[in-house]
Amino acid sequence: MRLATAEINIPALRYNLARVKEIAPHSKVMAVLKANAYGHGLVKIAQCLSDADAFAVARIDEALALRAGGLTKPIILLEGFFDPSDLPILLANNFETVVHDESQLAAIEQSDLDMPLSVWLKVDTGMHRLGVEPEQFDNFYRRLKQCDNVKPAVNLMTHFPCADDVGNDFTQTQINLFASIVSGTNEALCLANSAGVIGWPDAHFDWVRSGLMLYGVSPMLDKVGTDHELKPVMRLKTRVIAIKHVVQGDRVGYGGRWQCAKLTTLAVVAMGYGDGYPRHARQGTPVVIKGQRYGIVGSVSMDMISVDIGSNEAQIAVGDEVEMWGPTLPVEEVAVCADTIPYELLCNVTPRVSYEYCDE
Ligand SMILES: *Cc1c(COP(=O)(O)O)cnc(C)c1O
Repeated sequence: MRLATAEINIPALRYNLARVKEIAPHSKVMAVLKANAYGHGLVKIAQCLSDADAFAVARIDEALALRAGGLTKPIILLEGFFDPSDLPILLANNFETVVHDESQLAAIEQSDLDMPLSVWLKVDTGMHRLGVEPEQFDNFYRRLKQCDNVKPAVNLMTHFPCADDVGNDFTQTQINLFASIVSGTNEALCLANSAGVIGWPDAHFDWVRSGLMLYGVSPMLDKVGTDHELKPVMRLKTRVIAIKHVVQGDRVGYGGRWQCAKLTTLAVVAMGYGDGYPRHARQGTPVVIKGQRYGIVGSVSMDMISVDIGSNEAQIAVGDEVEMWGPTLPVEEVAVCADTIPYELLCNVTPRVSYEYCDE
């Protein structure tokens, strides 16, 4: 009997990519696959995204794993390279690099490379994490254009910290600033993450970088994927492994943190923080058994969680399937109950969980 399992719906994944293209019809799509494709399985997800124009990852090892898996599309390293000795690896594997720092530019200028590199110059328009300052842009751009180690087209990008909030006009300010910074150039432009794709049509330009929405999950505040006609790709499921009766006053789980107020029945389900389920999920966080929602009680253990099924014990038996999040229970909702974001829940699914890739 399979216990903790992440069921991955491949047609939903493909549908979501088509949905990105429908929302941003004039943009090429960089499918963001960092962190094991947000917990969905790096190579397998990449293999199913043949309609993407490029892939993007955060680390060179992730890009190498894609090449080892036989993927031949362009791969962009969103943080670039971290040491000059990485440059031959980039060239040998046809990786494109972001340049966001003087140290990277100097390494490219001073290296003796066999071929020119494809480069994305990242400008900081207000996130204040990575990117060259607006005042540095002309200097970086000119040096990249003049450098024999760089391909003639220098792509330009920036990133949004607040695009998930359509009521926050900071994103529009960034779009305007970026447009003015790059106005003297004629390069490919890339601004939008998923929230930019969904919330900010003015940010689409030549390329979009979509991650979360490909997995059918909403990046927007107080929304779920289906609000944008996206389909959740992951269903995290397990099974009931015991049924337990408790009476008023009984305490449940480590630390006895939950105390039973009246006679009830608990279903013990095989899922815990050892599978990546959030230990801080609050009392009452929903799970779905046989189409109905029930709340978790007590502390989340490493391997198990207790669920209060009240007087429904006749309908629920050992072996029944439990959905922890997925099409009938949005991961966005579980994230709120655990005081986190859906990105973290998806990335945190651990290797103990088995993966089932479903073609229909
Ligand atoms: C992760 C990442 C993205 C994708 O963000 P989503 O919100 O998942 O669409 C885009 N751009 C950069 C630079 C990133 O690091």
